[in-house]
Amino acid sequence: MNRPAQISKLKDSGIWDMVIIGGGATGAGAALDAATRGYKTLLIEQYDFAKGTSSKSTKLVHGGVRYLQQGNVKLVFEALRERGRLLKNAPHLTSTQAFIVPVYSLWQKIFYGVGLKVYDILAGSLSLGKTKLLNAKQTIQQLPSINPNKLFGGIMYFDGQFDDSNLCIEILGTAEKNGATIINYCKAIGFIKDNHKITGVEIMDTYTQNIYKVNAKVVVNATGAFTNEVVEMDDQNQQDFVTPSQGIHFVINKNLFEGSAAMMIPKTDDGRVLFAVPWYGKVILGTTDTPIKKSNIEPKALEEEIKFILEHINRYGTQKIARADVNTIFVGLRPLISTKNKGNTSGVSREHALHISLSGLVSIIGGKWTTYRKMAIHAIDNAAFVGKLPKKNCVTANLPIDLSVQKLNAIQQIIEANPEYANKIHAGFDYQLAEIVYAIRHQMATNVEDVLSRRIRLLYLDARVAMHVAPNVAIVMAKELNKDENWIQQQVTEFNDLAAKYILD
Ligand SMILES: Cc1cc2nc3c(=O)[nH]c(=O)nc-3n(C[C@H](O)[C@H](O)[C@H](O)COP(=O)(O)OP(=O)(O)OC[C@H]3O[C@@H](n4cnc5c(N)ncnc54)[C@H](O)[C@@H]3O)c2cc1C
Repeated sequence: MNRPAQISKLKDSGIWDMVIIGGGATGAGAALDAATRGYKTLLIEQYDFAKGTSSKSTKLVHGGVRYLQQGNVKLVFEALRERGRLLKNAPHLTSTQAFIVPVYSLWQKIFYGVGLKVYDILAGSLSLGKTKLLNAKQTIQQLPSINPNKLFGGIMYFDGQFDDSNLCIEILGTAEKNGATIINYCKAIGFIKDNHKITGVEIMDTYTQNIYKVNAKVVVNATGAFTNEVVEMDDQNQQDFVTPSQGIHFVINKNLFEGSAAMMIPKTDDGRVLFAVPWYGKVILGTTDTPIKKSNIEPKALEEEIKFILEHINRYGTQKIARADVNTIFVGLRPLISTKNKGNTSGVSREHALHISLSGLVSIIGGKWTTYRKMAIHAIDNAAFVGKLPKKNCVTANLPIDLSVQKLNAIQQIIEANPEYANKIHAGFDYQLAEIVYAIRHQMATNVEDVLSRRIRLLYLDARVAMHVAPNVAIVMAKELNKDENWIQQQVTEFNDLAAKYILD
């Protein structure tokens, strides 16, 4: 993906079959679906790909045990199918993860044991492993950091895990390989209409402020927590489609929550779910479900959310985790389908919805990362109908999303040309300097944040380490992009300002 080459296509005066607004999981899935059906597709993202919620998930490819508890069997069944497909189609960015639900009575063991057996049965041939009942000793073996006090046993089940932003970028890379035009830092700022029908989009390149007007047979709104704003751009009188709900996560070092299994608490005393999940050698703790009024691209954790996670993890673990132990705090916004009850979002459905406005704007709303492909099918089937495009079937069910061989070869070439780039970015992590160059040449990274947040996940693994390496990353980038000392300074300042928000004081 090369940005200048893609931008030049905006000058094309022809008509796009589909313009997709939003470069998170939903938009990326829609672009891949549309491009592989043969539609002439353009996707624009106002910031960087996956800068919104799609880099800030709990990183689970899951059916959602909690939704089973809520009785939403259809959603779980569908998500388990998608989980299986995703693990097959993108094996290098996904993995199977063992989870343990600790239980404190025989009744809990029966209740959760039966529920998780059903979860397993619903996965059918796409099951990732058989659910097992554990006694207290076996549970402690799997979760060495669990508080043994009153522990009765545990249930081990299997789910998927992934690298969310990198999957998003590879879905977009695969869409581009299939003919789509994909551009970051381009914002939809208005619709072009003819006789009240949308016929195109006004787009601003946020780097140059250049404005482009592109014609489209149909426009898909895949803007997640920002859906309401784009809908309003079409029709100021529309009701809210999305109610954002915030979820926070901490990332801590492995020695504070040991073992290779993840812990899942289906119901804390105030009815929430708590996870402790190993990820890239660290552990992610989360999450919360707090309704908020206005979407922000970098949402801020509330003090009560921080206290909730600390208090509950310390209740279930033996090592006492303090604020200073948190390497990174990150916050995402669930784009939940709007309901009248805005007070409690943990009960709102994680299913998706589709809305077609009178002017023909196709908005795809809600859902979850795991079901992005299903959402894409729904969106593109309807968009093709609205745009009067020739009917073509979806082909993504078994389509590989795997650019790992391309990456390996490119990294090798970068190192052959400059052996210094084989060095690590930081001694504590496996990332090489060559990956910075790869991110620029092949993944449309334009600044230090793009590299250290969403391609190399250092900001999410340890924000202080990310700040520490930022100057060196900026120097490598400046060399590749032919930038000067001022650019380096500005990049480091901007990145440090952002990274400071990922540190828990
Ligand atoms: C705390 C939390 C944990 C979660 N954990 C999981 C999990 O473990 N597993 C799972 O399956 N799901 C999970 N989810 C759900 C999942 O992350 C989201 O459903 C999914 O990422 C939403 O993707 P999206 O593309 O709709 O939204 P986003 O990723 O937010 O993408 C929308 C994009 O649209 C762009 N945009 C907005 N306006 C414009 C404009 N005018 N022009 C151009 N671009 C624009 C935004 O910049 C943004 O990048 C979680 C969600 C949260 C909040």
